[in-house]
Amino acid sequence: MHQIENKFQKKVYEMLFVSKLLSLLFCGIIIFIQYNVHFLKNLHKYMSFSMITAMLGIGMLTLIYKIWIFSYKNNKITSKVSATDIIEIILFIGIFSILIIFSGVHTSHYKFIFLFIIIPTTMQFGINYGIGVSSICSILVLLIDYMALPRNTINIFFETDLILTGVFLLTAWSLGYYVNIEKEYRKEISQLANMDELTGVYNHRFFQEALSEKIEVSKNKKTSVALLFIDIDYFKYYNDLYGHQAGDKVLEKIGDILKNLIRKEDIVARYGGEEFAIILPNTKEEQALNIAEKIRSTIEKIEFEGEENLPNKKLTVSVGVSDFPNKAKSKEELIKASDDALYRAKFFNKNRVETYHSVLEELKKDIQQEHIDLISSVKTLISVINAKDRYTYGHTERVVIYCKMLADRLGLREEDKKILRYGAYLHDIGKIEIGKDILNKKMPLTDEEWKLLKKHPENGAEIIRAVDSLKDVIPLIFYHHERYDGNGYPKGLKGEEIPYLARILTVADSFDAMTSNRPYQSRKSFEDAIEELRRCSKSQFDPKIVDVFIEIIEKNIDKFDRMR
Ligand code: GH3
Ligand code: MG
Ligand code: MG
Repeated sequence: MHQIENKFQKKVYEMLFVSKLLSLLFCGIIIFIQYNVHFLKNLHKYMSFSMITAMLGIGMLTLIYKIWIFSYKNNKITSKVSATDIIEIILFIGIFSILIIFSGVHTSHYKFIFLFIIIPTTMQFGINYGIGVSSICSILVLLIDYMALPRNTINIFFETDLILTGVFLLTAWSLGYYVNIEKEYRKEISQLANMDELTGVYNHRFFQEALSEKIEVSKNKKTSVALLFIDIDYFKYYNDLYGHQAGDKVLEKIGDILKNLIRKEDIVARYGGEEFAIILPNTKEEQALNIAEKIRSTIEKIEFEGEENLPNKKLTVSVGVSDFPNKAKSKEELIKASDDALYRAKFFNKNRVETYHSVLEELKKDIQQEHIDLISSVKTLISVINAKDRYTYGHTERVVIYCKMLADRLGLREEDKKILRYGAYLHDIGKIEIGKDILNKKMPLTDEEWKLLKKHPENGAEIIRAVDSLKDVIPLIFYHHERYDGNGYPKGLKGEEIPYLARILTVADSFDAMTSNRPYQSRKSFEDAIEELRRCSKSQFDPKIVDVFIEIIEKNIDKFDRMR
């Protein structure tokens, strides 16, 4: 909408500019006629000379026009009056007044020339400026008449010019009135096109435009822009209980609450379905966290009809927070970071505020300078895998969280905790070499396809082998599909031959695989997955790690059970 409005303004300004330019040309012609009557009478003699002059004049005008268009592209178009505009108006009034004086003062036939400044000013700046300029022009015309003639003679010019001033004022008034109405309607239409009908907040398209704009401003002014993603918890459940119309009322109410909670400069939009996004210009993550927390707690406190039947007994929201340029370097990264943060909030029991936290960014701190590029490529690799396989999106995050809990519970050394976290993050990186069709296949894999899939631990290890500071992570990636009984791959290591951290990773990875929807199987409940872990303890998994893991899950079952 912004672009369309800009295009409209540009066209209007072009038209006004050309008309102003032509009015100057008319001035030239008037002067020419006044002082070259003789020249005109003998025009045939001077034909070639006048042709050249005309061509030169047109050439000059075209040149000025081109320069103007060029400089104009770099300027933002506004309909607000600037100092330059006022100078321009005064200049035009001055030129026209001089012209009238030179072409016969009160007897001049060219007093109407003031219309050439009254019309563009009114069109550009509206009724008030139009009437202002036309009043000045009227006073000037009448003043010229008044000054030029002796007091006691009947001033016929004054009388006819009174009608001319009426024309000036009427033109400014009617045109200005029209321009104002049109401006108001344009504003209303653009508001309508930018609004979400149901919730009364901005819509997705406006959100995208506004975020791009705010990021540009923040780049220029070296400030931050924070972004909140807000998703209603258990909303599907609510819709299923009470129907979509009741759900719509909730959306409407949340839209109102958000509008009331934000600051004047913030922009709240409906991102999609039951997700809202809030752009917080000039705001850092810490401040955004406070705002997000205020939103979360307010919604938690407000009563919604029928909320007592929801799993939390309350209607709540989860909020993801991130900021530019601290946590994300572009608009796309910012959206992704807030979305990931929201995902974390959902994962940790919902009704929560979470910030974006990137294991990779953390990893960057530990990596030698010369390998920083590789980390960026790893980031790209992971997003490629995520795009290929919906399951890995979120899977990596969950495995990192499970591993973190296990590491704390098992009392690992800080150094090992770090290696485990990196291993958890990078464990599926070898899947980059496997096609989308295999990763998402619903039917059982053929032997050939299995062979390919089983290569991902080796491929993954190969990818990071070049980075010296990641050498301790290699065994985790390489051995995360080994089995405790020696029937795993790629090496068929047995029991404690498998590195300890790799054994931990295997349990976390497998548990998440069991409890996630995969193309070929639907997910198990937490209870069933615990059963499965028990069944495969000693055969597939290290029994000691399984015991600790089950303890963690059972302790947090309430929290985990509601996390999907
Ligand atoms: P979670 O707590 O994980 O967010 O669970 P959820 O049930 O909210 O799950 P999810 O975000 O996947 O579901 C979104 C639901 O929002 C699906 C749909 O029923 C509902 N929804 C999306 N758009 C609208 C809408 O315009 N009106 C209504 N009434 N419901 C909507
Ligand atoms: Mg949702
Ligand atoms: Mg939801």
